[in-house]
Amino acid sequence: EIDKMEAMEDIVRYANGFVNYDLVKLWADESGDMIDWLSEIIARNGEFAMRFEGSVGTEGQGARDKAWATGHSPEKLTDDKDVTFGTALRDYAEELGAEFRYDTMLVKCEQDASGRVTGVVCRDGNDRHYLRVNASKGVILATGGYAANTEMVEARQAWNNRLKINVPVGGSCTGDGIKAALWCGAAIDPIGAAVTFNRACCKPDEVAGSDLVGKWFWFGEQPFLKVNLNGKRFCNESGPYDYMLHSAFMQPYHTYVDIWDSDYVEQVRQINEVGCCRLYPFDNGAPSNMPITKMASDFEALIEAGYIQQADTMEELAEKLNLPVDATVETWERYNGFAEAGKDDDYNKEPYRLTQLTHPPYYGVRTGAWFLATIDGVLIDTDMHAVDEAGKAIDGLYMVGNDSGGFFSVSYPNLFTGLAAGRTMTFGRRAGMLAATGQA
Ligand SMILES: Cc1cc2nc3c(=O)[nH]c(=O)nc-3n(C[C@H](O)[C@H](O)[C@H](O)COP(=O)(O)OP(=O)(O)OC[C@H]3O[C@@H](n4cnc5c(N)ncnc54)[C@H](O)[C@@H]3O)c2cc1C
Repeated sequence: EIDKMEAMEDIVRYANGFVNYDLVKLWADESGDMIDWLSEIIARNGEFAMRFEGSVGTEGQGARDKAWATGHSPEKLTDDKDVTFGTALRDYAEELGAEFRYDTMLVKCEQDASGRVTGVVCRDGNDRHYLRVNASKGVILATGGYAANTEMVEARQAWNNRLKINVPVGGSCTGDGIKAALWCGAAIDPIGAAVTFNRACCKPDEVAGSDLVGKWFWFGEQPFLKVNLNGKRFCNESGPYDYMLHSAFMQPYHTYVDIWDSDYVEQVRQINEVGCCRLYPFDNGAPSNMPITKMASDFEALIEAGYIQQADTMEELAEKLNLPVDATVETWERYNGFAEAGKDDDYNKEPYRLTQLTHPPYYGVRTGAWFLATIDGVLIDTDMHAVDEAGKAIDGLYMVGNDSGGFFSVSYPNLFTGLAAGRTMTFGRRAGMLAATGQA
């Protein structure tokens, strides 16, 4: 339904760099069919309904993180705890004859003399033996990138190791599929990229970094006042997920502080966030991923654990956060002045997202990156084949999801909710159809 050409331009423009335009076009052409197909599968037993996040976000209001209405979320309609989105898909696949092997780790691909990939060698979960899987129709690698391989992240995108705060919700992907494809002669994206959200926090005496374990802080995405550890603002807080984090990389210790006040429930409504940052239902009534009503208990738990600080004055809050008091108060007063005037003279934040923080108690917390997944990978063509440096397809080898590259570059903008999962499923379906039918 959306204007495909304009949306594609946005992806390429915001990714700003090493992007294969034909893959973006393929996503625009095939993702609608994929969603229809998926919606039917999960709805067939009445266990789920696919919900469309029907809001075109804030384009009309001039926000720089306008949103294209692409996001879909499965809504669970049964109380059965054993039913998940994953089990609904697995059951469907098993009915069609698919066999699932858990605890079976890919080690490497095997090739014949012509270079065609003929199968894989795996290791069983107990490390007791290896097994060979012959694949006459092809191998589709989908081991999800390398987010859990700190060494690989350091080699390909060291900045994200500095920005990250480890939280319990993370991935288990160590780059095995990417390495296996490289050993077959595949080429890789020129630069690393990740899905990182500004939704992790640390204590007032801590700073971000890959050794640090902190807490999940969902509210961090809301574009309230954010200052560096010198108590200064440093960018427009309103923008796609990682813009704030990339700006923070240029600041001391790559860590910044979120500041908001006790009027946040109303202010968040006015801020009108997009995609999965949204805390109110979408314009068409579809629920947001997280409701505003949950924030109060989240704050309480984080205050109790020593992460969020609360104070009746900005002076006291700055002290509790180990920020220079005078500079922080000066920044806060200047920011409130901009909010009152409806004009941000420093960073041009959209007026409707400039709210006066004058309702004590005030809150603040040190913030860093929630590192979800890597999204750079092996170069592929539009048949989902891994390709070598010359652009030549490696016969029998398909790459999908976060093992594949060419789609994101440096940034994962939230202009298209669900684009990470969406390109994975769109291209995964295509790879499966091509391998099964032998068309390519
Ligand atoms: C907490 C969280 C929330 C997210 N929310 C969103 C969202 O709202 N919208 C969105 O678009 N994207 C979201 N993402 C990103 C999205 O989930 C990923 O981009 C997408 O799942 C990638 O799919 P994939 O199949 O490549 O990898 P995955 O879904 O990670 O699957 C890879 C699988 O391979 C397995 N594996 C790894 N190594 C091996 C091996 N050697 N052998 C066998 N198996 C192996 C892993 O255990 C894993 O099960 C989120 C990610 C996380 C972590």
